[in-house]
Amino acid sequence: MAFWGNKQEGESPQPGQQAPVQTTGTLEDGYNEIVKSKGRAPGIDLAIKLSDLILEHAVQERASDVHIESQGANLRVRFRVDGILQDMLNSPKNSDIPLTQRIRVLAGFDPEPPTSFRNEEGRFQKMLAGRAIQVRVSSFPTVNGEKLVLRVLDRQQLGLDLDQVGLDQDALTLIKKLIRNPYGIFFITGSTGSGKTTSLYAMLKNINTPMINIITLEDPVEYRLEGINQAQINAKTGFTWSEGLRTILRQDPDVIMVGEIRDFDTAEISLRAALTGHLLFTTIHTINSASIIERLFEMGVPPFLIGSSMLGAMSQRLVRKVCPKCSQNAAPPSEPVVNEFVKNMDADEGKIVKELILKPGAAYKVEKGCAECRNTGYMGRIGIFELMLMNEEIRKHILDHAPTDVIKRAAIKSGKMRTLLMDGILKARAGTTTLAEIIRVTATMV
Ligand SMILES: [Zn+2]
Repeated sequence: MAFWGNKQEGESPQPGQQAPVQTTGTLEDGYNEIVKSKGRAPGIDLAIKLSDLILEHAVQERASDVHIESQGANLRVRFRVDGILQDMLNSPKNSDIPLTQRIRVLAGFDPEPPTSFRNEEGRFQKMLAGRAIQVRVSSFPTVNGEKLVLRVLDRQQLGLDLDQVGLDQDALTLIKKLIRNPYGIFFITGSTGSGKTTSLYAMLKNINTPMINIITLEDPVEYRLEGINQAQINAKTGFTWSEGLRTILRQDPDVIMVGEIRDFDTAEISLRAALTGHLLFTTIHTINSASIIERLFEMGVPPFLIGSSMLGAMSQRLVRKVCPKCSQNAAPPSEPVVNEFVKNMDADEGKIVKELILKPGAAYKVEKGCAECRNTGYMGRIGIFELMLMNEEIRKHILDHAPTDVIKRAAIKSGKMRTLLMDGILKARAGTTTLAEIIRVTATMV
């Protein structure tokens, strides 16, 4: 949808704008420095220095993942920042600096990769800039050599404060009220990397007091939360989602977080627990809030069970925030352009979307690119949300086994639900992000 801005998709820099980019930044400088001191210090010392250097840069650049690739004779390091991979280092490999061995040892693996394929996962903790950074390591044997991916879990970055995930004041008030229900089940849906886990953690943290027993079932436990009993699924030992849930229910819980519902057993036990005095939070894999109900139907969950236990559902995505240093003011799109955009939507929904985009008073921005944002035009991310609350009309549709579009329409009409797209447009109107970014992220849904 190029017509929303003067720069398409915002993914790759336009030709002619390359100049201010520091593609490899100081990680490459640091690497060259270390390589220069070869022979003067043992290789392992240099590897320790190098792995520390990579992690320091990762935290500084707000990277969520670090990819370390030994591509033949080359060593390549990439960071995922704001959801997009960026090259940080691409240099001839120095095999006398045993970098991968160093990280393998930190992760608790053998120094040398196994000769036959084995799934390797480990974690370690590192103190950086005065705070504990947790790192989860995964190893993968490629034909060019070993590939290591380090997931960097920085509590400071995780922003576990419910007030800071990006919910606007209305939604925040509704959610805070909803998560204080004594029983019922609340669903969160969104693709991988949409910030679901962060939202779940933020909700648990928001209600966490010594007076209630909160237990989670996760795969994997992404972050350790104080005062909350977290358990990790282990299919090999029989600690499956459904078995785990049965066990938890004998642990006198008030609030249960089930990492994911993907089968009938887990769904049924969860929904029944929600009916018998427990408050549950969970995630489920669907494209929007309304389709959660159809997904539960497909699993074989009876409509009455859904209608009587479900408090509501939230769908979310992460969008990139436009760089405050270089963004420029933009005019709203023209009416014909907006008409074209909404023409395939449900009539009521299209009308709301059109009005929302064209209503006067918007402070639309368009991305440009500067050294500060590595010429991407964006810096940091924020959630967009679609909050569907149960009401009598939606409940009636559930009992009638209604399809997703009927439930979605009812949620918009009677529940005043704001869709992901609508919430995104509001954030674009406020100048937090761009319309192009909202379209990119929600394109598969409209
Ligand atoms: Zn910028």
